[in-house]
Amino acid sequence: MLAIRKAAPEPGLICHEVEAPALLGDDEMLIRIEAAGICGTDLHIADWTAGYEAMTSAMPVTLGHEFAGTVERGPSEWLGRRVVVRPSVTCGHCEGCRQRGEDGCTARSGIGIRRNGGFASLASVPSRNCVAVPEGLDAELAALTEPMTVAAQAVSRAGTVEGKRVLVLGPGPIGLGVALFAERAGAAALTIAGRDDAARLACARALGFGDTRDALADDEPLAPSGYDVIFEATGVPEVASAAQRLLAPGGVLVICGIHARPASFDLTAMVRLEQGVIGSYRAPVARWSEVVAAIADEPERFRRLISHRLPLEDALDGFALMRNRTAIKVMLQP
Ligand SMILES: [Zn+2]
Ligand SMILES: [Zn+2]
Repeated sequence: MLAIRKAAPEPGLICHEVEAPALLGDDEMLIRIEAAGICGTDLHIADWTAGYEAMTSAMPVTLGHEFAGTVERGPSEWLGRRVVVRPSVTCGHCEGCRQRGEDGCTARSGIGIRRNGGFASLASVPSRNCVAVPEGLDAELAALTEPMTVAAQAVSRAGTVEGKRVLVLGPGPIGLGVALFAERAGAAALTIAGRDDAARLACARALGFGDTRDALADDEPLAPSGYDVIFEATGVPEVASAAQRLLAPGGVLVICGIHARPASFDLTAMVRLEQGVIGSYRAPVARWSEVVAAIADEPERFRRLISHRLPLEDALDGFALMRNRTAIKVMLQP
């Protein structure tokens, strides 16, 4: 079968034929992959930016951690069912696992990062990582679940967003997902901002978010009275620092982008204005079925996040579309 792999700790990916996987154990299922999204993390891994060194010992490894498919081998009650796969594989015996269960594990390995993932036709994954999707929810929508759990978790970390003025910085899949979940949580007003980001801001408007700003093209200042909640989904440290100045007194800045460098904050302002800065990363396991239900509730709206569909053999073109920000979510179809 064809697989998109990271083969060496240096920039680049390979797209080549590998042997189809066998079931790795009794507690695993073999998934026939129907849709797999390309994530910003995959771009970082492809370009070999700092922070992924722990993958080296797993190479060559098949990428892809946002995928859905049908169960081809496994317990009879699962056969033929469509599932979405949680990529975080927990160890089951560390202190965190013993005390807090799957959400507490401190010795995780990621499917599509440190073990073979979804940029292939088949993958063997632990059964406990499979989440059943409702009848009628197709594979590409199911494959949006992982990034949408990241978005839903960021909104949950903000506390109450109901009735609040919300600013989302970065109109990628996470930022747009944050906007969708903030709206579902009752945000009073939503602004989405990008920088030289026409294609992705057009997607924001197609999703129904009328207030979009492009920092390069628009002179109009962002709300001078500030925002109650700001989500930073650009991954640019300077944007995180600047976002603090847009926060209203008592406002909360939720950082959900991955930042390669530190950012600085005005601590005096933070103290006097009682502002909060909160990080948000992986959603607890329980959030997965909530997010699957949210997608099933507004399927055609969430589908707008998928801007491109490509066969697996064209995956490297998909990476290029992501890199130049013409794509929102590129879905590979093995
Ligand atoms: Zn991802
Ligand atoms: Zn553990």
